[in-house]
Amino acid sequence: MARQRPEPGGEGGDVGCGGELAMRHVSPGAAASSMEARTEGQAGQIGARRKQERPQCGMTRLGGRSSLRCRRTRFRRRKCPMSPCSVRGRSSEKTGSRTSPAPLSSPAPAQPYATACSRSRSAVPPASAARNSSRPTVVLPRRARRLPPPSLAFRRPPPFGQGRGRSGANPPFEEGEGEGAPHALVIPFPAQGHVIPLLELAHTLVDRGFTVTFANSEFNHDRVLAAMSSEKNGMALLDRIRLAAVPDGMAPGEDRNNLVRLTVQMKEHMAPAVEELVLRSRDDARGPITCMVTDYNLGSWALDVARRTGIKSASIWPASAAVLATLLSIPKLVQDDIIDSKDGSALKQETFQLSPDMPMMHTADLAWNCIGNHGCQAALFRNIIDSVRAVDNCDFVLCNSFHDAEDATFARFPKIVPVGPFLTGERNGKAVGHFWPPEDDACISWLDAQPEKSVVYVAFGSFTMFDRLQFQELALGLELSGRPFLWVVRPDIGHGAVHDYPAGFLDRVRNRSMIVAWSPQQRVLAHPAVACFVSHCGWNSTMEGVRNGVPFLAWPYFADQFVNQDYICDVWKVGLRAEADKAGVITKEHIAGRVGELMGDQGMRKRVDTLKKLAQESIKEGGSSHNNFEMFVDSMKA
Ligand code: UDP
Repeated sequence: MARQRPEPGGEGGDVGCGGELAMRHVSPGAAASSMEARTEGQAGQIGARRKQERPQCGMTRLGGRSSLRCRRTRFRRRKCPMSPCSVRGRSSEKTGSRTSPAPLSSPAPAQPYATACSRSRSAVPPASAARNSSRPTVVLPRRARRLPPPSLAFRRPPPFGQGRGRSGANPPFEEGEGEGAPHALVIPFPAQGHVIPLLELAHTLVDRGFTVTFANSEFNHDRVLAAMSSEKNGMALLDRIRLAAVPDGMAPGEDRNNLVRLTVQMKEHMAPAVEELVLRSRDDARGPITCMVTDYNLGSWALDVARRTGIKSASIWPASAAVLATLLSIPKLVQDDIIDSKDGSALKQETFQLSPDMPMMHTADLAWNCIGNHGCQAALFRNIIDSVRAVDNCDFVLCNSFHDAEDATFARFPKIVPVGPFLTGERNGKAVGHFWPPEDDACISWLDAQPEKSVVYVAFGSFTMFDRLQFQELALGLELSGRPFLWVVRPDIGHGAVHDYPAGFLDRVRNRSMIVAWSPQQRVLAHPAVACFVSHCGWNSTMEGVRNGVPFLAWPYFADQFVNQDYICDVWKVGLRAEADKAGVITKEHIAGRVGELMGDQGMRKRVDTLKKLAQESIKEGGSSHNNFEMFVDSMKA
């Protein structure tokens, strides 16, 4: 019998994952046959590095303070992402610096660079407004009345006929709203890769007759509104979901990429504000909030609020089921001496399987080991364990994936219910939740002018950063490929505002390229001109590529993206790996070569088309994800 070790936090054993895990360890040597060789220097090092100075898992300090680079990808971070986590209100945290990765699956925390959205937020609706309301006064439970006045920037809807509220954020009442209608409060983790899928989920609930209140952090609320107001239809996009803003507890200029601090602050400040939101809704003409759908990555506090206020709750995991399965298996990983019980760091360098039919994983790819630095890992790990425990308190754990993509994982972990792939970004004329205004017209009209299946689409999500060398190599690789390309170069993708393109590059590629700051990615991937997707393998991007049948050049950055890369390249076989050379650089020749291979690989195209069909089947009426979602909806309505 396996030796019992203390479980993390003391009671992490029952996580509702169903059944005993069949953990199978595979030696590093054996792993080579089932997993492609990893970049030199990765295998066998994390355990050893654990006790040494280790800026962050998978990253190495190559030079000065600003020279952190990933061993695998050669991306660079501005500085050790989570190092100041234990220092409250640290003044050296510059606004605008992109530092901390988000927890687990969804790496893109709020990007606090100076955008137009950093305007001051609207005030709490004055108490007098509530008093003067013609609605009957609802007496809140005693406990609620003792709550400190929340700094809740909840925008109440205007009365009928008075148009939109001050912020323009709230729609007028809609038919079907009011007493008796189910009313869901949806709360995303404050990051782009979470706001987009949860907003899509919110739209889907509205489609099913729910009233939806969508509670962003104040910071992201303002960014979403600012991005939308510069879009064509502007605020008209928000015709069906009411937006609320709750404080995340961080000071206006503080670094929201400091994830550990953000997580701690959210728990302290968001929890009472959300509770107040739920309680106040009992005095709302739209009807009280009846259920809560919260991002799993928020931790347990949101589900605790649901429990305290007596409403139903579901947790949504916006990444792969396989990664959630590793979280749910933490007690087993600890028991088998694979990870340390205190901070989750890998004790062994090896591949393993949670069950014989599940994908092979490497300890280096455990998501919590690919975020932040070692100093903060324990805090992050504790939060994860907390979330795992909370899962047993909610009615559903939904996942933005589909049965055929991860059938073995869903069979082994029946608590995880696939309801994806979400149609992220696909709602024409509806709020999608971008933090930056997408350059729709520029991208789509340029794509319209390109031949079918000719364009290389290059986008690395909302968080990835490049160092100068790798950025230039990518530029030259795209040039060398000889293909037309659409490249998303976020303003903060490198250091400083100016992107350091190779000399003459922009002139040489002018006639066959489009470079934008942010694209309407879903529309781009659905465009017939797009042939392949050079991607960082964020889960949303992965699902979007899959459901549009676009093969990948898989180039992960951090967190769950290495597991996603394994799915793309080894399990589904719908993409090729971007591999670094001995110096750790993904060279222009390699990039151009891989793009050429992808374009010419008919087998790959066939497989991605098959996967696309399966993805689309799953969300059609009668499909597995569709049925799961209906079951969830019925249960939330009951
Ligand atoms: N996205 C977009 N335009 C871009 C780049 C990304 O709309 O130019 C969207 C993309 O469609 C996806 C999200 O941003 O829905 C990024 O999420 P993902 O999980 O792929 O990566 P992350 O940003 O979390 O690293």
